[in-house]
Amino acid sequence: MSSGIDLDGVLKYVDGQREFIIDLYRGFIPIKALAPENGGDGEWDRANYLLGVIRNYFDEVRIIEAPDRRVSRGSRPNIIAVMRGVDTSRTYWVIAHMDTVPEGDRSLWTYEPFNATVVGDTIYGRGVEDNGQGIVMGITAAKVLRELGIRPPINYGVILASDEEVGSKYGIQYVINKEPNLISGKDLVLVPDAGNADGTMIEIARREYSGLK
Ligand SMILES: [Zn+2]
Repeated sequence: MSSGIDLDGVLKYVDGQREFIIDLYRGFIPIKALAPENGGDGEWDRANYLLGVIRNYFDEVRIIEAPDRRVSRGSRPNIIAVMRGVDTSRTYWVIAHMDTVPEGDRSLWTYEPFNATVVGDTIYGRGVEDNGQGIVMGITAAKVLRELGIRPPINYGVILASDEEVGSKYGIQYVINKEPNLISGKDLVLVPDAGNADGTMIEIARREYSGLK
């Protein structure tokens, strides 16, 4: 971050996002997003809800549709949202996935799986962590930047992908094959997927993209 940004003020503003975050979870957790392999109709309903939120905070929002005739809409949506930075030649990406898996044995749930139930500082529900936290963090960071009038040093991008739980063929794999230059070798990529309670489980991956700029 460049000098002149009041970091304490930003952090205080982030703390003030609690109600926004709870409302966002309550909006999309009840909208099931299951792959056809899991007996579902894909991610469009959830994607449409999230689009309504995301459009408020990014400069460009578009969808890359992966054709899939097994679902009623005939495709699986992948949302690409970008906020332009001071330097637009690079992007800091947050990649999260919209799909979840079924709730399993309901008798094992203390709280309704397809609701977001807040108990103290914990939210319970199917997919609130994997990968709801990635979705919520990705959107909330943009909201904070936008509302505080902060232009990030490089672009800030969020990809909300479909189809992670059963292989990513209609999700991030499709996106990368369709637009091989979307994520460049100069970019930074964060994939906030599942983890453990104290945040010590971090997977670091590196890949050489010889074909990409
Ligand atoms: Zn996941």
